[in-house]
Amino acid sequence: MRWCAASRRACPAATSRTNAATVTIVFAVSDLEVIAADASTCTRCPLAGGRTQVVFGRGDPGAGLMFVGEGPGADEDAAGLPFVGRSGKLLDRLIAEEMGLSRADVYVANVVKCRPPGNRDPRPEEMAACRPWLDAQIDRVDPRVVVTLGNVATRALLGRGDGITKLRGRAYPWNRRQLIPTYHPSAALRGSPGVMAAMRGDLVRAKLALAAASSVGSPAG
Ligand code: SF4
Repeated sequence: MRWCAASRRACPAATSRTNAATVTIVFAVSDLEVIAADASTCTRCPLAGGRTQVVFGRGDPGAGLMFVGEGPGADEDAAGLPFVGRSGKLLDRLIAEEMGLSRADVYVANVVKCRPPGNRDPRPEEMAACRPWLDAQIDRVDPRVVVTLGNVATRALLGRGDGITKLRGRAYPWNRRQLIPTYHPSAALRGSPGVMAAMRGDLVRAKLALAAASSVGSPAG
């Protein structure tokens, strides 16, 4: 009996395969792709009317570390991929410098999958409508550590109204995982050196949480 990463259960369909690692990747990718295909035609909220395309997510479907931002901007809406603009490039750099990882090692998604007009914050009803897609991603990827980027994503996942400046700086047990809030990279791009230093510290915190979770071999929290 093989282990299926997508369902986190023994998978009878995989028993005839000879390479368990291959089975794990094929199942996880396939499952997320099915969900992404469903999401690509979603019209559950008004943001559907202004999008070029749904920006579902990107990265390793079996990643131990997942980043969650607030929503696609213009570059992401055009490319169909999250965090491809200046903010994404900064995030990639900080992940490499502070964690020794690349974008391919992690999974990246947003709270809403369609671009809010004028890059405004997504509204509560839009986030609620889109939440099943994010929950499905978190369920399938099953990361041990989730890093939320900025006020919107942190409040949405933690369910607290405090700002990111107050909430960051620690890890929160969250759904058998560790949730680590940090600033959105766009805040660092606006020029505050303190924000950049705080982000670096938060990513080191996430790296240590991931190492601790990996050492015990099961989701932390
Ligand atoms: S933002 Fe989410 S809920 Fe709204 S249309 Fe896009 S995919 Fe659907």
